[in-house]
Amino acid sequence: MGDDAARIVSVKNTDAEETLRDATLRPKRLEEYIGQKNVTDNLRVFIEAAQRRCDALDHVLFYGPPGLGKTTLAGIIANELGVDLRITAGPAIERAGDLAALLTNLNDNDVLFIDEIHRLNRSAEEILYSAMEDYEIDMIIGKGPSAKSYRIPLAKFTLIGATTRAGSLSAPLRDRFGIVSKFEMYTPGELSEIIRRSAALLNVEIDGASLMEMAKRSRGTPRVANRLLKRVRDFCQVKGEGHIDMEITEATLRSLGIDKLGLEGLDRDILRLIIERFGGGPVGIDTISAAIGEERVTIEDVYEPYLMQAGFLHRTQKGRMASPEAYLHLGLTPPAGDQISFIGESPEIGDGETWT
Ligand code: ADP
Repeated sequence: MGDDAARIVSVKNTDAEETLRDATLRPKRLEEYIGQKNVTDNLRVFIEAAQRRCDALDHVLFYGPPGLGKTTLAGIIANELGVDLRITAGPAIERAGDLAALLTNLNDNDVLFIDEIHRLNRSAEEILYSAMEDYEIDMIIGKGPSAKSYRIPLAKFTLIGATTRAGSLSAPLRDRFGIVSKFEMYTPGELSEIIRRSAALLNVEIDGASLMEMAKRSRGTPRVANRLLKRVRDFCQVKGEGHIDMEITEATLRSLGIDKLGLEGLDRDILRLIIERFGGGPVGIDTISAAIGEERVTIEDVYEPYLMQAGFLHRTQKGRMASPEAYLHLGLTPPAGDQISFIGESPEIGDGETWT
């Protein structure tokens, strides 16, 4: 069960096979993109203005938890602009030369999307500075005394960077983005619209109550919503009667270990650990990571955002704390009021990284 559930929640999008399968569900135009109104309303204006000027769109930085539609929106921007999109990711660029090769192959107004841009190595990042600002790069070719520096002009392109942690970006890189947009978690209403659209594309019938139930248990995340829909569809095909109803939906969610609020096994393990072993916290993130056996970045990027959004977890300067709601959700009794104090609470700051 743990493995299945982890796959529903794990929101890494570097899985090439999944990206391919997801292609059918990804909206292609701005009007198909549901939610994130704050981001899309402004972008619509910036895209139209760039088109009227026959100029490249300013560089764009998207930040927020994984699975919220950053890659999808980058694809839509390229579509709306009618230009080519090149996709890469920070960890995939090993040497500065890899990035130089990508940049020199771009045409005017093209979009280069770099996912996990906070994981670019230093030499690649330095190349980006002059590429973004002056549309040229300096390359040193050769070694030792015969090494020569060449200045290579680039087309006027748009860089779209995506990151789960804006605070990890260096200031010189962050300052070079003209448009910076924060992605918020989706409301159950928006998620049910996304599931309805996906169900139509996948050719499955689903009733309104099941739509809403899946939406409520999708952690505010479209990628999780689409995965849930696919798993419920599997159960429906094997055990159901051709259409998705509440009985099939509830049975699937139960067998995946996903509770009423969308928490899965590992979420509950984290809360239980803080409550039962550390009296509700504060506990350092590295201690949680070691005890749970999950990487720190996965806990921070994948699990914590939803636990905080749901009000179960607080990040304080001294560590993570479970809220009284977390006790109640797990069927435990919270300590008396004066024993829970979120001293120095600062949800914006968590062990060195900031969400600005
Ligand atoms: P991110 O890049 O933020 O990790 P993705 O863009 O890969 O997220 O989105 C994950 C999946 O969720 C996509 O395959 C897409 O089908 C779906 N999705 C994301 N945002 C939306 C949206 N606003 N409307 C409809 N589907 C969406």
